[in-house]
Amino acid sequence: MKKINFGAGPCILPQSVFELAAEAIIDYDQLGLSILEISHRSHAFVEVMEEARSLVLELMNLDASSYTALYLQGGASQQFAMVPYNFLSNTAAYVDTGVWSQKAISEAKKVGHVETIASSKENGYKSIPEKISIEHSYDYVHLTSNNTIYGTQFDAFPSFNETPMIADMSSDILSRPRNYAAFDLIYAGAQKNIGPAGTTLVVVKKDFLQHVNGLDRFKFLDYNAHSKADSMLNTPTVFSIYASLLNLRWIKEQGLDSIFSENQQKAALLYATLEKHNWISPFAERSSRSSMNVTFTIPDASHAALFDSYCKKYDIHGLKGHRLVGGYRASLYNALSLSNVKILTDVIDEVNTHV
Ligand SMILES: *Cc1c(COP(=O)(O)O)cnc(C)c1O
Repeated sequence: MKKINFGAGPCILPQSVFELAAEAIIDYDQLGLSILEISHRSHAFVEVMEEARSLVLELMNLDASSYTALYLQGGASQQFAMVPYNFLSNTAAYVDTGVWSQKAISEAKKVGHVETIASSKENGYKSIPEKISIEHSYDYVHLTSNNTIYGTQFDAFPSFNETPMIADMSSDILSRPRNYAAFDLIYAGAQKNIGPAGTTLVVVKKDFLQHVNGLDRFKFLDYNAHSKADSMLNTPTVFSIYASLLNLRWIKEQGLDSIFSENQQKAALLYATLEKHNWISPFAERSSRSSMNVTFTIPDASHAALFDSYCKKYDIHGLKGHRLVGGYRASLYNALSLSNVKILTDVIDEVNTHV
C-alpha cells in the first residue's frame, strides 16, 4: 500500500516519476544500459542535462540568454558557503527568518562582513519581517523564501533597486509562478519539489557571474568554473538529475499555474480545518503562513494519541514536526494531491468528533 507522504524532504514526487525513474534504472531509453551505468559524457546524458537546464529556466519564466541553470552537489548547505565565497567582497546583507537563514549567515561570516538587516528571531521566527529595507548598498541581499521548519513563507519579496538578490528557495521553488527574475541567484536542494536528494539547483544571472570577488577560489566552489563546464565540471549526480528532469516535465505538463492553484486549495483546506478545531500553529502567524509546510500542534494529548493511530490506519506518513520545534508538520509539495490532503482533513475532523 502506497502511503500518503507529508514528509518535509526528501519528499513525495509524482508516482509517474517514480515509475519512469525505475524503468530507467533497468534500461535507459532502450540503450540496453541502466541510467546508473551510462557515461555522464554520453550523448544520452548530455541531452538529459541540457534539457534539465533549459526546462527549469522555462518553468521559472527566465530568459536563457540572461540566466544559466547549474545542477551542483552538496545541497543547499554547500550554497550557504559558496554564495559568500564567490560574491562577498565588502558587506553582504542577510534576512534572518529561521534556522536555515542562520546557517547561511554563519557560513557567510567566515568569508567576510555580514549585516542582518531584518530578523524575526525576537518572536521565535513566527513571521516574515515586514518592510525590509536597506540604507546603503551591499554585495547582495540574501533571504530564505520559505522556512520549512516553522512553516512561514514570503508571499511577496522586497526589492532593493540595484542591490543583487539571492534566495534559498529550497522548499518552495516551482510551487507557484513567482517573479524569479527579481533574483540574481536562486538555489535549492532538489529534494523538496524538484527531485530526489543528490543534486542542488543553482539558477544564476549571467551578468551576476561577473561580480565575483577577487578570491583565487577552489575550482569546485567556483560558479564560473561550473558554468563554463556546462554543469559538468566533474561527474554530476546523473540519476538525481534525470529524476529531477522527469519531475520538471511533469510540472510542465500540469502547468505551474494549475499547480499553484491546487497548492493554494490544499493549504486553504488544511488551515481551515486546523483552525476549526483550534489545532493551530505555535510557530507561524497567520499573515506569514506557508503554503508548502503547515505546522500545527494538538492541544489535547488524548486527541494527539488518537490522531497518531488514525494516521497509521490511513497510511498517512511523515507528519512529525522538525526536531527543533516539535509538534506536527504537513508538507504539501507539488506531487501531493488535494485528495490526499482531504484524507488528512477528514481524519482531523474525525478525531475531533471524539470529544
Ligand atoms: C532543507 C533545506 C535546506 C538544507 O538543504 P540541504 O540540501 O539538505 O543542504 C536549506 N534551506 C532550506 C530552506 C531547506 O528547507
